[in-house]
Amino acid sequence: MKYPVKIRSIEQVTHNVLGIQVDKPEGLVYSPGQATEVFIDKDGWREEGRPFTFTSLPDEGHLEFTIKTYPERKGVTAQLLELQPGDGLLLNDIFGEIAYKGEGVFIAGGAGITPFLAILRQLKKEGRVGANRLVFANKGKKDIIHEAELRGLLGAQFINVLSEEQLPGYEQGVISETLLKRLLPGAETYIYLCGPPPMMDAVEQQLNRLHVDPARIVKEGF
Ligand SMILES: Cc1cc2nc3c(=O)[nH]c(=O)nc-3n(C[C@H](O)[C@H](O)[C@H](O)COP(=O)(O)OP(=O)(O)OC[C@H]3O[C@@H](n4cnc5c(N)ncnc54)[C@H](O)[C@@H]3O)c2cc1C
Repeated sequence: MKYPVKIRSIEQVTHNVLGIQVDKPEGLVYSPGQATEVFIDKDGWREEGRPFTFTSLPDEGHLEFTIKTYPERKGVTAQLLELQPGDGLLLNDIFGEIAYKGEGVFIAGGAGITPFLAILRQLKKEGRVGANRLVFANKGKKDIIHEAELRGLLGAQFINVLSEEQLPGYEQGVISETLLKRLLPGAETYIYLCGPPPMMDAVEQQLNRLHVDPARIVKEGF
């Protein structure tokens, strides 16, 4: 089942991330954290589906995607850079492993923030941000997606880790066992993990060494 949708707006969120708003088709139902397969409704691209997460909230009248682009791969995200309001996309079935189960620590790498953006926006709307924390790993400050919004949402519970930049108030390096040890609040909370596979593997190994129950890890590889 493919839903045809029109782009309402398309803008740069960071130097290499697009925010795309599209019409919401009647009957399309999703929950925060879920994704859909997106196709560009243009000759030569209708069979090239790629998964992207909804960063809008289910009760909003539009859909939003927040998409890191890779012009060098000459794939779908490179094509998205050419699109304008009024152009069409096709959306397929809805899926995704990530859903909110309870308070915990969200660990994201780069575009892996998108399911957590949706979940945290929903929690804020419901006044339930509580003690949730976010550890967000990026190369530099310019790569941090929606930094101001996340800071407003989480305050001191928002920890940025930068691998290629040293700045006051930002952890320097990659996510480490020492950092996780400091941040993991207790055995009763969840760990939400999303990012590129090498980062996911490294963090999962660290969580394993810290004896985090795998049943408490909610994850999806990008
Ligand atoms: C469930 C899920 C949800 C996701 N949600 C989001 C989201 O909300 N936002 C977001 O930004 N991303 C998200 N992603 C990741 C996103 O799907 C990919 O970034 C996207 O598919 C890339 O598409 P592309 O066509 O531009 O490039 P690709 O399909 O990755 O690559 C096109 C071609 O480039 C070559 N190539 C592939 N990798 C490399 C590389 N590392 N270096 C050089 N060449 C390469 C290959 O020949 C490949 O065929 C999600 C992924 C999953 C699994």
